This record gives sequence, C-alpha cells and structure tokens, in this order.
Amino acid sequence: MKVNGACHCKEITYEAEVDPARVTICNCTDCQVLTGSPFRVSVPASAETFRLLAGKPSVYVKTADSGAKRRHFFCPKCGTPVSATADSDSPENYTLRVGGLVERARLPPKRQIWCRSALPWAQDVSGIPGIDGQ
Ligand SMILES: [Zn+2]
Ligand SMILES: [Zn+2]
Repeated sequence: MKVNGACHCKEITYEAEVDPARVTICNCTDCQVLTGSPFRVSVPASAETFRLLAGKPSVYVKTADSGAKRRHFFCPKCGTPVSATADSDSPENYTLRVGGLVERARLPPKRQIWCRSALPWAQDVSGIPGIDGQ
C-alpha cells in the first residue's frame, strides 16, 4: 500500500510502500517513553520505496539494554516521530510511525511485541466514557 506521511507542523513529508500485514504494536518501555503513550504502532517500508519529500529529520540514536543501537528520526520543529532505522547510513528498512501516516485508519495492527511490558489499562479502552469535542 502506498502511504503518505507528514509531521504535525508539515515541515517533513514523505512517502513509501508498506505491507499492511506488517503493522505492529510495540509495548516496550522505550516506546512508551519515546512516544509518551502506552505503546507505539509502526510498519516497515523497504529503503527503495521510502522517499523523503521535504524537510530534514533530526536523529536520536537509541541504545537498548542489549546494546543494540537504532536511529530514531523526528521533526526538529514539532517533535513528531517519523521513522527508525538500523544504525547505518544505508539501512534496508525504514520503520514508519503509523500515527504520522495519512492512511493510518486503514492500517490496523496485526500483531504486538514486548507484551510483558504492556500496560494493562491500555489493552481495552472501549469501556472508558467518551466525551466528544475535547
Ligand atoms: Zn514538524
Ligand atoms: Zn518498542
């Protein structure tokens, strides 16, 4: 599926091809902190299909407890997470953040990882009273 992405301030725009079957929720504690949310939703795009159309993302190199490094790209102006890659100048994949994609409503997650650190209260929010317009 062709996807179009943009950060909140629209300084960074990009496009790519993704496989909707590979949309994943990550419940790891790094994703919780980095997103400010209970989990992150991402989908990989191969480097051949990823095209940065405008802007220059900033990079934060995250070192996991295992020592593994990943480059996390985000908008320097508004902070929106854009993608992550291996710690390489020519990565094979760009892991796109689904919330920044125009097509996000058509990209429901198909699996989740790091379930042992999943926040129990985030697993089913359907019973929380909804108030529109807030
Ligand atoms: Zn921005
Ligand atoms: Zn994670």
